[in-house]
Amino acid sequence: ANQCPNLGALARRARDQFAERELVVFESEHITYDGFFRAAAAVARHLREAGVGKGDRIAIAMRNLPEWIPIFFGITALGAIAVPLNAWWTGGELVYGLANSGSKILICDEERWRVIAPHLGELPDLCEIWVARANGAELHSPARALESLIGQPTAYGALPDGDFPAVAVEPDDDATIFYTSGTTGSPKGALGTHRNILTISLTASYNAHRAALRRGEGTPPTDARTHLLVIPLFHATGCHATLMNTVMAGNRLVLMRKWDPLEAMRLIERERIFSTGGVPTIAWQLIEHPERHRFDLSSLAAVSYGGAPSAPELVQRIGGDLNAFASNGWGMTETSGTVTLHSAEDYAQRPDSCGPPVAVADLRIMSPEGDRELPTGEVGELWAAGPQIVKGYWRNPAATAATFVNGWVRTGDLARIDAEGFCYIVDRAKDMIIRGGENIYSTEVENILYGHPGVIDAALVGIPHRILGEVPGAIVHLADGAAATEADLQEWVRARIAAFKVPVSILFVPELLPRNANGKILKGDLKALFEPR
Ligand code: ATP
Ligand code: MG
Repeated sequence: ANQCPNLGALARRARDQFAERELVVFESEHITYDGFFRAAAAVARHLREAGVGKGDRIAIAMRNLPEWIPIFFGITALGAIAVPLNAWWTGGELVYGLANSGSKILICDEERWRVIAPHLGELPDLCEIWVARANGAELHSPARALESLIGQPTAYGALPDGDFPAVAVEPDDDATIFYTSGTTGSPKGALGTHRNILTISLTASYNAHRAALRRGEGTPPTDARTHLLVIPLFHATGCHATLMNTVMAGNRLVLMRKWDPLEAMRLIERERIFSTGGVPTIAWQLIEHPERHRFDLSSLAAVSYGGAPSAPELVQRIGGDLNAFASNGWGMTETSGTVTLHSAEDYAQRPDSCGPPVAVADLRIMSPEGDRELPTGEVGELWAAGPQIVKGYWRNPAATAATFVNGWVRTGDLARIDAEGFCYIVDRAKDMIIRGGENIYSTEVENILYGHPGVIDAALVGIPHRILGEVPGAIVHLADGAAATEADLQEWVRARIAAFKVPVSILFVPELLPRNANGKILKGDLKALFEPR
């Protein structure tokens, strides 16, 4: 058997160690580690029969269904490359992902089948489509039902007891292409290896351990703990920091059909959920939910998030209102997820930091030109290095050369690092507003707006200005019943920071701000709400 560190070996070891323990719960479906492994091995065998070999790309486009997990391991254990596609994408975007990755086979759910079916003529290289839960949808060539190959998830335990086909898969072989969120441009495919993913999994285990210690449980998390997965598996954080960590530690994952805070609280109570998280918005929606006190959330020990700036008071609110251990991590698709991790006293004392780098990572702050490292405490571009950094962008040598430099990734984020090594993200370089030569970090102003008791959601964007270049404008969503006016909020900001940072205009919107599937505010759409001055 292949004992070297790769995803197939991880799956096999998890089956050997945890066998009849539950891995996944989805509604009334329960899947054990043994059932998962049988299904993953069956996927790998069918892919092998379909002629799939090392380095071939196999796309996955589905919501967080239990099938996702054996599919992902079946692909990567063969040495093929799993290409998780964003389930929110339109037909045209799915065509982009499939064509850009050059995927031979697509494994999708019924909704994605309906979206992609009219576009098959644009995808001559796609030989097969396997559709999960087709639910009577009409399938035609090249589509067939996934269940005809591996059965229903509830029957995975009855599949034959087999192993993955024998293929030598090295730690630095390609394993995945995850697309970036597309917040600042077209999504780029980040080419990750087995080693990248295994590195991230360990980081998350360490955090769960600290949360358990805070509860006075005193022991490392060797018992099956349950994580409520509320973020998509098609992003690096959902897959690596959550799913991989679960499989590595023998824990249990509860999947949700769709994020809904009320349903999440029901599940936390019913399934005795130990940890959850993803993006800061999720934590806020739990904390501020009017029906929160109806539920027994006492099992919830850890709430972790990252991916977007979080208001400094969030750490106190998670401790105070949810009695849970908060952690914030910074990372990007290009780093397979977590690079910095912040929790416990360190976080409580520095609630505006995203923490120090994890033990295997390295950070530095560079000049905008990228030619020199800046002194401690100065704001510049954050660069990151470590065994979790991906090889580069798939089929995009120009972007790869611009972003990946001698083992470092240029993150496009502006940050500073203090004398103790704590990192503070101040803004994305692309979101920084320059008002007549003065820099305004959108995150700083947003955090002040969030601090106002009536504000639930806020974004600061640049409004084009004939003379000053840009001036700041804010879009705000108020809590039900809050009555703050534009002048009130401008006064609130003016009392707290320099006058040039005060939004010249504030628009109120009746709903939460538009976000992409990864919880990031789509600032491009919001900019269009303002008239140039
Ligand atoms: P694209 O690169 O396609 O424009 P994206 O950068 O949003 O999209 P991701 O890789 O999902 O795609 O997100 C990484 C970015 O998310 C980081 O560069 C950073 O701007 C932001 N981010 C991640 N974690 C944090 C955090 N803890 N605090 C603040 N910002 C964060
Ligand atoms: Mg990015």
